[in-house]
Amino acid sequence: MKRLSILGSTGSIGTQTLEIVRENKNGYVVEALAANSNIDLLEAQVREFKPRITAIGDKNKYAELKSRINGLTHITAGQDGVVEAAAAEGSDTVLSAIVGIAGLIPTYNAIKSGKNIALANKETLVTAGRIITGEIKRNKVMMLPVDSEHSAIFQSLRSGRHSEVSRLILTASGGPFRNKSQEELEKVSLSDALKHPNWSMGRKITIDSATLMNKGLEVIEARWLFDIMPENIEVCIHPQSIIHSAVEFVDGSIIAQLGLPDMKLPIQYALTYPDRMPLGGKKLSLTEVGSLTFEKPDMDRFKCLKLTFKALSMGDSACVVLNGANEEAVRLFLEGKISFLDIGNLIEKTLDMHEVIDNMNIDDVVTLDKWSRETLYNKYQMRCCK
Ligand code: NAD
Ligand code: MG
Repeated sequence: MKRLSILGSTGSIGTQTLEIVRENKNGYVVEALAANSNIDLLEAQVREFKPRITAIGDKNKYAELKSRINGLTHITAGQDGVVEAAAAEGSDTVLSAIVGIAGLIPTYNAIKSGKNIALANKETLVTAGRIITGEIKRNKVMMLPVDSEHSAIFQSLRSGRHSEVSRLILTASGGPFRNKSQEELEKVSLSDALKHPNWSMGRKITIDSATLMNKGLEVIEARWLFDIMPENIEVCIHPQSIIHSAVEFVDGSIIAQLGLPDMKLPIQYALTYPDRMPLGGKKLSLTEVGSLTFEKPDMDRFKCLKLTFKALSMGDSACVVLNGANEEAVRLFLEGKISFLDIGNLIEKTLDMHEVIDNMNIDDVVTLDKWSRETLYNKYQMRCCK
């Protein structure tokens, strides 16, 4: 029996996690739920899963939520309220699926409270990988990947020892603009960018998948999760999204994990590890798929991917800036204020302004994140991007 705190319960990962819970009611107890503002869905989830604690990130929604579910659950609000849900006494595992850096402090506090983490929120490791992995060791907890690529690597790593690994191969679908020329990329629209060919996800990660920033963030996530240097991580475009990622060992053997593009498998494996449980849904038929193809990524057309390797070579603080600038740029793009290519251009200009800071603590990360958002926003206002 797993006792769960689900952070980001109304999102794409959160709702799929609750579907897994619904299908195996004897396997899980939901101790806490946390979401930002969708109180209609949160109310329905409280009525169905009966969490002891429910947190609403947006304080303006607290009164309305309370009027609807008063007496059914203890309701908390704001970041402190989400932290309370993350550290809820009685829960043993925190499913971390808030989007963006808003997931960092709750996840950090969950680790400090001795919870195992099923991690979907990649921004936690992108911005604070060194701090978080240190806390994981200190608190003797596990961090299990939910991101499909990292779950694939995690599963593949069971074939050998860490010292026998030579390379991680992270696959990427290439997103909706894989075959677009630079001239065509100048004209793509928001609705084009929101149409991912293989996966159905939240809006921010869908845009990140179109720019390939998502793959860049995943390279940083893999660097920390598996303690592998960036030069030993290769990105490979694989448009069918069947091979979810792979590990090459020192003898040249490559072990991969395959499956249909469905997040339920990696979510469930993060919750049941080291066991495997049956899972409904269609299974992969290799003969139906027919062929699998692979390409090198084009780092010039997809500048965001190149910028992540640059940030990694600059240092930890540059990864905070990359992430914060990206969150702000994606927000502006989603609001229709900047073009698709402006995303990479504005992030690059923000990164150029950054002077690397050593030995950051968690407060430094939060401060630098704010600086990067403000700097990108100022650049946007000055219209200095081409
Ligand atoms: P989403 O936008 O669908 O959901 C985000 C969730 O976070 C919502 O429940 C929202 O209410 C909550 N949230 C946002 N800000 C909050 C705050 N300040 N306080 C409390 N709750 C807050 O996003 P998603 O697609 O589910 O992605 C979530 C995370 O998982 C992201 O970091 C993403 O990169 C990662 N991820 C997602 C997928 C996927 O298939 N969707 C795959 C791999 C990794
Ligand atoms: Mg992924």
